[in-house]
Amino acid sequence: MKRWSIKKKIIFWYTLFFTLLIGFDFLFINTFSRQMLNVQAERDITVATDEIAGTLHFDNGKIYIGSDDDSNTFNYYHDGVIFMLYQNDQVAYGQAPTDFDATEPIVLNEVRTQVTNNIHWLVYDVQMQNGYVLRGLYDVTTITYSIQQIVLIIDILSPIIVLIAAVGGYFIIKRSFRPIQKIYETAASIKDEEDFSKRIEPGVSKDEVHELAEMVNQMLDRVEQSINREKQFSSNVSHELRTPLTVMQAQAEYMLAKTDNAELKADIETIIQQIQFMESIVTKLLDITRARHLSPEEMETIDLYELIQFTAESFTQKLEEKHLTLTVSEPHFKTKVSGNQTMLIRVFSNLIMNAIKYNKEGGRIDIGFVKDNQNLVVSVSDTGKGIAQEHLEKIFNPFYRVSESRTHNDYSVGLGLSLVQEIVHLHKGDIRVESVEDKGTTFMIRLPLA
Ligand code: ADP
Repeated sequence: MKRWSIKKKIIFWYTLFFTLLIGFDFLFINTFSRQMLNVQAERDITVATDEIAGTLHFDNGKIYIGSDDDSNTFNYYHDGVIFMLYQNDQVAYGQAPTDFDATEPIVLNEVRTQVTNNIHWLVYDVQMQNGYVLRGLYDVTTITYSIQQIVLIIDILSPIIVLIAAVGGYFIIKRSFRPIQKIYETAASIKDEEDFSKRIEPGVSKDEVHELAEMVNQMLDRVEQSINREKQFSSNVSHELRTPLTVMQAQAEYMLAKTDNAELKADIETIIQQIQFMESIVTKLLDITRARHLSPEEMETIDLYELIQFTAESFTQKLEEKHLTLTVSEPHFKTKVSGNQTMLIRVFSNLIMNAIKYNKEGGRIDIGFVKDNQNLVVSVSDTGKGIAQEHLEKIFNPFYRVSESRTHNDYSVGLGLSLVQEIVHLHKGDIRVESVEDKGTTFMIRLPLA
């Protein structure tokens, strides 16, 4: 399963939290508040009915309320409760509301509910003197209706609130994560392009993310410094070795010319061979050093198809010696890139040279072109001995050779692919390799199209 980003996780969790919170509120209002309001209504009706039952009295067929000195005519509506007086299960005084069924049997001191025409009544009966029963009625429809309205409003509002919270939260989180996203993007592009001169913009707010960005930048400073030191070191060493090697070769050749001793001649020839080998290392190291800097004036628009065809032609003799077939497939699109001609020739010479060197007798070399967005991908495939998986990552390291033979007869020093990689990176491209042992190897070079 694909891992969720932190942004997604936060939005998911707090949206879930909001939904649960609103859900609980909804449940609470729907059940507990309904119950509480009902309990309150029951208390109101019993208190009012009991109180009134205690103060009602009859005089000349009329009903009065209050103490004898301070009596008022009873009107049948008090504190939201409607009253009726029953005698022998019949309404004797007062009038039943139209939506109440007055035949509701008398049950003393117990609150009941009657629903008539969607009107919810609470009914409560109290025994009085002279065989009368005082009945109180309380209309709870409004309470039920109000609760239904609240529930309806919550029903409509809650998805909107959750949506607003999720969308609003998404934008706030996205904004807050932008500096981290930038750190990630910079780190990724440093990794892909191996360009350690890139830095993260720390942003304006001086928060933890800002500190993190500054710390990463400091670390990059150190990495860049140590890489530069290492590059400078190998460049200095190569420069320093060049002159003594030239002198040594000249001296050895002079000695070779002067002596007639066959044994001595053979020894001097071995020395010259080794000096030439060392010179080739130094030259390759200097090539690598040069391939790290390219001024805009040294760049031009190059048709890579033409350049590769031209490069391949210079290998005709070597191909014939090993009975190899080299094909450069013609692309159906423009293959123009911006680059340095000499350096790009080096790239493809090295790759073709390797494809010849490590190929089988009578094998094939195929060069093809693919367009990938704004990039050109050139593949150089051979039918050679291939490279074992454990070596694949390391073959671009300087001095790395798969078989460690130190005979130096073919001047294989393991610097060719380092140079290739260095030049490709300098052209803002990348190089990949795929290989199957005993089947062959394919190098893929991606370069931005001009
Ligand atoms: P070298 O000078 O030894 O050829 P490179 O840097 O060009 O150095 O290559 C490094 C190593 O990668 C080689 O020693 C070889 O083992 C391996 N290699 C390079 N290209 C190929 C290829 N086309 N097929 C098989 N092995 C290869």
